[in-house]
Amino acid sequence: MLLKNRVGKKDIFYLIDKYSCAISRVEAEMLLEYLFNCERLDLYIRDFSINKTMEELYDSLISRRLKGEPVQYITGCTEFMGLDFIVTKDVLIPRPETELLVNVIRDTLSVTQTKNPKILDLCTGSGNIAVSLSKLMPQSEIVATDMSEAALKIAEKNAARHNLSDRVRFYKGDLFNALIFAKNPKFDIIVCNPPYIKEDELSYLQKEVKTEPEIALNGGKDGLDFYRIIAKESYRYLEKGGSILLEIGFGQKKDVENIFSSYSIFEICRVIKDFNNIPRVMWFNLI
Ligand code: GLN
Repeated sequence: MLLKNRVGKKDIFYLIDKYSCAISRVEAEMLLEYLFNCERLDLYIRDFSINKTMEELYDSLISRRLKGEPVQYITGCTEFMGLDFIVTKDVLIPRPETELLVNVIRDTLSVTQTKNPKILDLCTGSGNIAVSLSKLMPQSEIVATDMSEAALKIAEKNAARHNLSDRVRFYKGDLFNALIFAKNPKFDIIVCNPPYIKEDELSYLQKEVKTEPEIALNGGKDGLDFYRIIAKESYRYLEKGGSILLEIGFGQKKDVENIFSSYSIFEICRVIKDFNNIPRVMWFNLI
């Protein structure tokens, strides 16, 4: 019956299949969800009849995608920790690996039962880490910083979107410099997914990644600039026994470990691997 109905009429399946050689089905579905302002499941259960305007609009979205624009920038949103986040070209698109940082912090704090933990999220970008931690741990106090005014605007919108504007405070500035006007800037946890790509590797990145803001990616000559600053300055902002949780790039574990151990005030507590078995999160404690 369904097959019979489809004959001669352009329906959603026609669009899903139209570019199947060029983009994945998941991306086609994401663009169609956006175009029809519906949920993924609706594509399969609702009856959409496709007119010429809709098809042309879809074609123009596909052409942006094929030129290298990530689907998340086209639709203006992405999912992180099961929550919806607004993303624009001013912010890095949150990656699934970064969820590890949030999960580790949540699990640890639930075990240690730290009351009202104070958490600092450096380089907050879209605010994905700060907002999801606040959502998962309503008793936490979160401060988030970024040097990009444009990124902070998006992060604030994301906090508002999840009704957390009064629970996450945002400050503009370069890493710890942002805290100059913060009241009592001492934290139990400092978390950061810093820019960690080596400067001379930026030009070899995938064309999609190249559309993301360079300041969110560029970690300096050897990719380690941000880890050095965090290792050098974090003790002033951490409570005794406090923790630093950092995302790291492929192959950076040894270097980051050396940077922190050169200060003799940190102990390495854990290294957590991602789903590709790559060390992705490093956890240091201030001793
Ligand atoms: N905190 C954001 C994220 O983890 C942005 C990180 C960044 O801009 N380097 O996705």
